[in-house]
Amino acid sequence: MGNFTGPDTDHWPVVEARWYKKITNKSRVVHRVVIHTMEAPETANTAENVAKYFQGLPKNRQASAHLCIDNNSIVQCVLDNHVAYAAPGANSDGIQLELAGYAAQGAADWSDNYSTALLENAANAAAQYCLKYDLPRKHLTNTELEKGHEGIIGHDQATAVFKLGSHTDPGKHFPWDHFIKRVEFYYAERKKQLGLS
Ligand SMILES: [Zn+2]
Repeated sequence: MGNFTGPDTDHWPVVEARWYKKITNKSRVVHRVVIHTMEAPETANTAENVAKYFQGLPKNRQASAHLCIDNNSIVQCVLDNHVAYAAPGANSDGIQLELAGYAAQGAADWSDNYSTALLENAANAAAQYCLKYDLPRKHLTNTELEKGHEGIIGHDQATAVFKLGSHTDPGKHFPWDHFIKRVEFYYAERKKQLGLS
């Protein structure tokens, strides 16, 4: 598992980040999808704006992600085979998804119209990566992450398990149960569309 074995994802518009590690000599093995919040306001252009932000960062602020996602669009900033600089400890074998909004959001914020649309886009993208890299559609516990299991985690879990950095996104009210259900939905839909059983 984790190798590139499944169908490719959609091809989203690309705004190339300035800082990431290029891997060109092999197919990167991916074990986990990592969920982040951008700590940026919920607007229709947040994915585009944060992609531009990643493009303009100075040398002393090297950060990036594979996808920036908002309520109406997805922008790819780092191609899948390259390593984005998003979650120390979980970068080299991770696909990094940045979601519009804040780690401090409460349950009500996560279920408003904007976040509901955002979570659909993010779940759809995460499902595509689970299919591409043959990953379980599962929110790992910290213990499972520590043991090297494959699945979906938050940046906060990489912080806790690898003891690197201090980021707590996507926050303690991120609706994991709802999110994983939607990932399962899109995973099944895509398999059906592709004629896979
Ligand atoms: Zn993060």
